[in-house]
Amino acid sequence: MKSERILVAGAGGFIGGHLVADLLSQGYKDIRAVDRKPMRDWYQKFPQVESSRLDLQEQDACEQAVKGAKVVYNLAADMGGMGFIELNKGLCMLSVLINTHLLLSAKKNNVRRFFFASSACVYNVDKQRDPNVTALKEADAYPAMPEDGYGWEKLFSERMCRHFREDFGIQTRVARYHNVYGPNGTYEGGREKAPAAICRKVIQAKLSQKHSIEIWGDGKQTRSFMYIDDCLKGTHMLMRSGVIEPLNIGSSELVSINQLVDIVEDIAGIKLKRKYNLSAPKGVNGRNSDNTLIKARLGWEPDTPLRDGMEKTYRWIYDQMTRKK
Ligand code: NAD
Repeated sequence: MKSERILVAGAGGFIGGHLVADLLSQGYKDIRAVDRKPMRDWYQKFPQVESSRLDLQEQDACEQAVKGAKVVYNLAADMGGMGFIELNKGLCMLSVLINTHLLLSAKKNNVRRFFFASSACVYNVDKQRDPNVTALKEADAYPAMPEDGYGWEKLFSERMCRHFREDFGIQTRVARYHNVYGPNGTYEGGREKAPAAICRKVIQAKLSQKHSIEIWGDGKQTRSFMYIDDCLKGTHMLMRSGVIEPLNIGSSELVSINQLVDIVEDIAGIKLKRKYNLSAPKGVNGRNSDNTLIKARLGWEPDTPLRDGMEKTYRWIYDQMTRKK
């Protein structure tokens, strides 16, 4: 129903900005974009979209944002890479106010469908101690021992979505995103995640001719990274599906951080001396997405090769950095 009003909360951010662009390209006409950041800092802005600056931790702001909307995407959260979430647990937990007030407003306004962006950080940390990981399946979130701060907030908010669906009939859909990357996202300032941070460091080394790079941890920690196009495709498929339980949306292409650096060095055509900062935040030792459920329920899994997505991400960050210079 392309004429329905859609709210994208967190539209000034990385995934939210891409989601608005994608909804427009699909022909949705009535989109309301909301973010707490000043408009000049939004990654993507669209003149045909009603855009406003609101702090969605406040209930009144959520009422204003949700009014008239039939579909809500909650992508607003205080968030960042390991360097941010390990040092800002209280701030991360305050995002619970955003989802709580959005759900309450959705209930009041008879919202038809509500999306919550959860995270692989909800998974029990005990299952992520070995870099030779067993990929995480949805059931591994319980018994609960998620990432402190950020992960607990996500798990609680997932649970709240479930009970608002069961008790009040709001059709909630919950994605557990695994490390999303791509152009038009954070690559500096302390909130950036590994793919963007490594691109930035490699580009800095290339431009400054200082051929060394600092890597957080020993570089042996493993992860999977999902390109933004796959994230959007999975989000739409989930929203249109009958899948009511939280679902992994993540790539299952596992790499170590050292291998990720290899890829970026290769794209940049450079080889760097690696310095390992063993006291920097590095997160769990290993994490991958088990995609059995998404394949069974949606008949698809994220499939953009890491090298292809990193190529596009690197080019965008390179353009930003050289333009600034
Ligand atoms: P982002 O930081 O680029 O975007 C989040 C946006 O939310 C920001 O623009 C921020 O200003 C906004 N925001 C924060 N607090 C707000 C408030 N009180 N009111 C209004 N806006 C507020 O992050 P992202 O990568 O686009 O992530 C989007 C969502 O996906 C988040 O919920 C995040 O936790 C989740 N997620 C992202 C990843 C990833 O790898 N990027 C992985 C798992 C989950």
